[in-house]
Amino acid sequence: MKYLPNVVYTTKSGLFVRQDKNVGLLVYSQYTGLIFVVHPEDTDNTISWMNFENRLISRSTIHNALGVGWDKKVKEGAFPMPHYLEGQGKWDSRPWPKRFPIVINWLLTGNCPLACRYCDAEDLMRQKRPEPNVEDIKLIASRILLYNPLVVVLSGGEPLISPHLEECIKWLYKRAGIIIDTSGLYLNEEKRELLKKYQVAVRFSIDSPIPKCNDSLRCLSKKRINPGEANNSNSSLKNAIQSLCSSFDENLTVSVQTVATRKTINDLPFFGDRLFSLGIRSWRIHLVSLPKDNINYERLFVPMKSRKNILSKLNRTKKRWKGMDLQILDDMNRNYAVLVSPDGEFLAESNVGKGKILLDSDNPFQPDIHKIFQSVSPKNHAMRYLDSPGSRWRGG
Ligand code: SF4
Repeated sequence: MKYLPNVVYTTKSGLFVRQDKNVGLLVYSQYTGLIFVVHPEDTDNTISWMNFENRLISRSTIHNALGVGWDKKVKEGAFPMPHYLEGQGKWDSRPWPKRFPIVINWLLTGNCPLACRYCDAEDLMRQKRPEPNVEDIKLIASRILLYNPLVVVLSGGEPLISPHLEECIKWLYKRAGIIIDTSGLYLNEEKRELLKKYQVAVRFSIDSPIPKCNDSLRCLSKKRINPGEANNSNSSLKNAIQSLCSSFDENLTVSVQTVATRKTINDLPFFGDRLFSLGIRSWRIHLVSLPKDNINYERLFVPMKSRKNILSKLNRTKKRWKGMDLQILDDMNRNYAVLVSPDGEFLAESNVGKGKILLDSDNPFQPDIHKIFQSVSPKNHAMRYLDSPGSRWRGG
């Protein structure tokens, strides 16, 4: 079967692929929650291997990164950074998609049981926009799929609170890879079963292994939503770790993302040791971006000198975490993501002003495809999912 360019396919091994003529073969692995790109020269061979048509893949870098979970054990994985597989200078420079986004972030609901000090979704949250009903969810999902994203990330707010989560996942299932961002507070047995059934990778937000520190940054809001469905600890860290361990027990794909602030940055090497010993093999660190309007947030910003020092230290300590994919994102450039609000508008973070901007003001709910990368930087978008731009800040 010939795969058409820009169309997302699920291979027999369960990996999602999309051929992008500007980049190569984009691949999402539901077994790791990671995205890679294979050089065009290796595309046909890699697709055949992922469809069990040939048993061998000649390039070990492709095998080590993409074979995990179906052709080799998780602990045997090796994930080069950047995620351009077997480059060897074959790409003249790092290419990026020019038309179809790699990932679309769908803020499924504006409701959230947390009140994080650095939250940048505040303008879309807590009933500032109408919450979608089930018909809206189907419509928004089908519109998102028109842009052929390799992966849809479900976030919010807290996406596990959405009463339409199952419907949403069913619509996306097998049409795109699915990742869910969560605090873990609502990840009960029933939800874990749902995520497992539909091969949704779970990304937990945890900022520090020290309860006092994590809980003061990721505070539980006083008003609990649907308290009967939530875990009952008063610590956001405890909830996240408990849910993470239960998810591991049930063989869900699990990763962690961390917002690094002035309060937590020095603990990152120790935190990495803890995550590695728990079995985490994918860790994304976001260095908190410069706030535009929030004074509390400003105190969290990490000065440049500390960034350099700690990233230099992280680059040394990560050698202890063999087989862990470590991505460090410097959120100074904000126009990297395609966002969809709970009411279905397609947005990007403004790189100059506060808040979000519409991708196409004439068609807010279904932007012209050519307008997407006018507001979103294609280079920052690709780096966000395939590279570790923050790790370039090496201390000197
Ligand atoms: S969990 Fe996310 S959406 Fe909720 S307050 Fe924290 S940063 Fe904002």
